[in-house]
Amino acid sequence: MEIDSAEENFYNYGEIKKRMDEDMLYRSTRNKEEKATASQAILKGLAENGGLFVPEQIPALDVPVEKLAEMTYQETAYEVMKLFLTDFTEEELKGCIQKAYDAKFDTEAIAPIHKAQDAYYLELFHGATIAFKDMALSILPHLLTASARKNGVKNEIVILTATSGDTGKAALAGFAGVKGTKIIVFYPKDGVSPIQERQMVTQKGENTFVVGIHGNFDQAQTGVKQMFSDKELAKELAAAGYQFSSANSINIGRLVPQIVYYVYAYAQMVKKGEAANGDPMHVVVPTGNFGNILAAFYAKQMGLPIGKLICASNENKVLYDFFATGIYDRNREFLLTSSPSMDILISSNLERLIYRIAGEDDQKNCALMDQLKEGGRYEITPEMKAQLAGFYGNYATEEETAAAIREVYEDAGYIIDTHTAVAAAVYKKYRQETGDSTKAVIASTASPYKFTRSVMAAIDRKYQGRPDFELVDELEKLSGVKVPKAIEEIRSAEVVHKTVCEVPEMPDVVKGFLKK
Ligand SMILES: *Cc1c(COP(=O)(O)O)cnc(C)c1O
Repeated sequence: MEIDSAEENFYNYGEIKKRMDEDMLYRSTRNKEEKATASQAILKGLAENGGLFVPEQIPALDVPVEKLAEMTYQETAYEVMKLFLTDFTEEELKGCIQKAYDAKFDTEAIAPIHKAQDAYYLELFHGATIAFKDMALSILPHLLTASARKNGVKNEIVILTATSGDTGKAALAGFAGVKGTKIIVFYPKDGVSPIQERQMVTQKGENTFVVGIHGNFDQAQTGVKQMFSDKELAKELAAAGYQFSSANSINIGRLVPQIVYYVYAYAQMVKKGEAANGDPMHVVVPTGNFGNILAAFYAKQMGLPIGKLICASNENKVLYDFFATGIYDRNREFLLTSSPSMDILISSNLERLIYRIAGEDDQKNCALMDQLKEGGRYEITPEMKAQLAGFYGNYATEEETAAAIREVYEDAGYIIDTHTAVAAAVYKKYRQETGDSTKAVIASTASPYKFTRSVMAAIDRKYQGRPDFELVDELEKLSGVKVPKAIEEIRSAEVVHKTVCEVPEMPDVVKGFLKK
């Protein structure tokens, strides 16, 4: 030991303490005493007992809109994210942003706005997998590796995911080639669409692994969860220099990057003269797990002039019922719709809103979440419900969704995907009910090329039953939008992942991949 090491330690301690005092901390929705810095919360993903990390307070946007209007997407991302991820240095955060929002996106705008009929479509599908999950999953791997470095984690990070299709591919694309990480995705061999399977098994990158299982999605997910909680396996992996992590949608490293595009959208509306600075702008979000709309809620809390938060559901309308009655009830039939990424009965991110309207009372929140776990149902108090006045919930049936696709196409020559169409249909209901013509931005969450079959059948029944790739060419002709690279690629790409296993073999497959 050096003589002055005590002094040095003292100095370091002072630095750390100062940082802890100044940094915005995150608290668990299920235990207020559990705190973490942003980087720790990103590394952990979930808090203990299933709690979610929430920022202690929502920071105010500190750049005026007229300045934001002149900024690129990347510059806007920095201005927003630095307020939430306060323990990242400027260099770290800018590094993450540059690596995420680059030529993987097929437009420099990253999230362009397209006006059609009486709405503004915020296109969040210009990334590697042509769906909005790319907005967060292209930056999460970099936030995660930066967080690991900051917290002295030396192990290589192994992302384990079970997927029913979309998230798996977006996570693979995000983590592919990112140093210090590996990603292993399990999917039900006979439970995803042919396009989804091709997208995954053709994934390039030496650190990517894709495995089909003989079983359904639930079995894949249960298998992954068991590996996460397997202490023996963790020990074995640690000895080999690995540790597990997840790319789950409740990670704040996915939530924070989603706030950015609402700020960007507002600034662009002002820049293009579509809205005057200060005018309210409604936001319409096709909702599943409640992550995307929660990001809009946080943007509003930051001071962005967002009007109504319009929550659009498909026929799995748990959220519509919740906003209407104050009762969240998952005890119902699970329906398969043409907007599969919204086929969800438990919207995990809603817990963050519940915690907030419960006055940040962790005990109250715990009680409700226990009821949800045990009986599948809870009811909020009238005081809590009163705080939901900023939200409007509605839903669209399958017919209404198809009609929205057809109408927007026939009327404006613009083709939207099934998820976006749910939002468009709900927005139409909102307009009819309220007569409110305030400008509205619709979060456009997937490219129509990703759901070609349903989209084309909605436009004209003659397309029903035709093979996906044939319809891709038809869609190009109708829309005049070039077939995205993500689709072109999988037509010809080589299948590189061929592993298939039984459910009980999953841990052995993982160990096999990680052998050095
Ligand atoms: C994930 C997803 C949604 C739902 O978003 P949440 O943040 O889970 O509410 C909507 N549309 C598409 C295309 C998605 O992939």
